[in-house]
Amino acid sequence: MPSPLFHATAGYFLGKYLPTHLIPKSYPFRRFDLNILYPVFIATCADFDFIPQMLTGIEFHRGISHSLIFTLGFSLIISWVASKIWKISYQHLFRFTLILYSSQLILDFFAEGRGIKLFLPFLDQFFKSPILLFPGVHYSLGWFHPSHLVSLAYELLLTVVLYQLLTQWQAYKAQKATLSTVKNNIHHHRKLKSKSTLKN
Ligand SMILES: [Zn+2]
Repeated sequence: MPSPLFHATAGYFLGKYLPTHLIPKSYPFRRFDLNILYPVFIATCADFDFIPQMLTGIEFHRGISHSLIFTLGFSLIISWVASKIWKISYQHLFRFTLILYSSQLILDFFAEGRGIKLFLPFLDQFFKSPILLFPGVHYSLGWFHPSHLVSLAYELLLTVVLYQLLTQWQAYKAQKATLSTVKNNIHHHRKLKSKSTLKN
């Protein structure tokens, strides 16, 4: 499974680089430049299921909190509550929250390990992709085992590559937008000029 750090990074990237129509417009955290808090929290919170596991000894991790039903229910409820508090569009916030929470399931699905119980409570079975994109972090070896460094190094490299790609894509989009504004201005200017010539 990817480390919690990578889930947090995924949340941060989604909050920052998703196309603007997918991010609620009057989303208050954006205004105060704290737009990392909500996405990072939603993208990581499914893994807090290790807390009841630690307290009770019953196996919860990658169970119900990683199922499709829970993803939908959690996103519906948390978006409804947050949209009431922040007085913003429920529909927009729900879509945003669903994408963020689903990132946890998608990343875990493509990671080494047992997989996730996608179809709980209907089917008590782990599912994982046949093609794996992440080496597993084996917490059974302890929190600070040297083998974790391999996963962390891989995730760090992936973060740097992703960051480069996303910033370059954003710069390309900004350049394209500037070019089209300049073209529109030239077109508008020509139109005005031809109108004034006709009048004269
Ligand atoms: Zn997880």
